[in-house]
Amino acid sequence: MVPPAAFPMFVSVEDARAHLHALLPTRPHETLPLQAALGRTLAESVTARVSHPGADNSALDGIACREADTRAATLETPVRLRVVGESRAGAAHAGTVGPGECVRIYTGATLPAGAEAICPVEQLADDGPHHVLLRRPARKEDVRRAGEDFQLGQTVLMAGARLTPSRLALAAAAGHAELPVWRPWRVGLLSTGDEVVAPGQPLQAGQVYDSNSAGLHALLHQDGCEVLPLGRAPDSPEALAAALEGTGGVDLLVSSGGVSMGRYDFLRDLLIERGQVSFWKIRMRPGGPALLGTWNGLPVLGLPGNPVSSLVVYSVVARPVLTGAPLRTVRLRAGNAFRSLPDRAAYWRGVVGQGAEGGVVRDVGAQGSAMLRALSHADALVAVPEGGSVNAGDEVEVILL
Ligand code: AMP
Ligand code: MG
Repeated sequence: MVPPAAFPMFVSVEDARAHLHALLPTRPHETLPLQAALGRTLAESVTARVSHPGADNSALDGIACREADTRAATLETPVRLRVVGESRAGAAHAGTVGPGECVRIYTGATLPAGAEAICPVEQLADDGPHHVLLRRPARKEDVRRAGEDFQLGQTVLMAGARLTPSRLALAAAAGHAELPVWRPWRVGLLSTGDEVVAPGQPLQAGQVYDSNSAGLHALLHQDGCEVLPLGRAPDSPEALAAALEGTGGVDLLVSSGGVSMGRYDFLRDLLIERGQVSFWKIRMRPGGPALLGTWNGLPVLGLPGNPVSSLVVYSVVARPVLTGAPLRTVRLRAGNAFRSLPDRAAYWRGVVGQGAEGGVVRDVGAQGSAMLRALSHADALVAVPEGGSVNAGDEVEVILL
């Protein structure tokens, strides 16, 4: 075996992310219509092709008029204006609104020249066919100003943004029918271990169901990756080497198990002896014994076998690299004490709730690295830096899951 000094050991979480980032290949762009781009990552920034709104327009159904004409209007002493036309969405009033005049206007219709205020229909009464009575003054605030949302030429979405429903709506409003996005990461997913069995099969003594494939597949999918499930490989160097060879052109292989300190952790030996290792072990709990390396140029992220560890290491280390976006974090009051070891950052499984003084995070109880039921109750990871100690009532950094 190559001496351990040949590659970094016990790297920080930040360094682990940087190593993974460095191993990933560059991906091509593709251009997709908006309806196919949900969840994708923008490859280039998006510039507005129009201003939004394109012109001053009405936020309400009502009348448009000169504000000064209407200041005295009350329920008891309504102001009377002459109706000189109509402005509707898509068909603006062509003329000018003079003193004592108004036009009927509908939501989204362009404000006619001369008018600068709106009185809503609820505050109007007709007074014969050609006049209206206003029960309160017209308001300039009910005019939506040209370009108040965004202006022609303005950058409205930055490269690297994940395309959410509201961002797709924004791109459409800015005049884009299609967007340049990165091709998704193609990720092979492998579970290892003689004892690991697909759920649904009968279970013999000493076997466990493969929960890592289910959890990791879902996480990868949620993060916009295309997942190639590679099933399970037993603890044999030949079988593992064959699995590493059969990944069919993925960008990254994510595996679980077989990279710890045990005699049968052959994936570790294979990568150390016949591949290349970027690091082995991360200074974090849960999940220390992760390994990152390459096999004939294929990046391999070897996650720990323990079910909680594999999902937490993925979430803390791989997720921000694969999505290109920082983890969503908030600072909240700790509902109980949280600690970490001197040389390990801790990621406590927590649940966010409401305390007397606002948001509070508590641990979910059982923190063992095989306690999946406790993990399933967690909606957050409480991040305690190496050698950190947080008392109940202190503020703590929380990663939202
Ligand atoms: P390992 O890292 O291979 O030593 O595995 C550590 C622990 O995680 C052992 O108890 C394994 O049985 C368990 N384990 C490994 N892979 C899986 C998996 N895919 N699903 C559930 N448990 C697993
Ligand atoms: Mg194993």
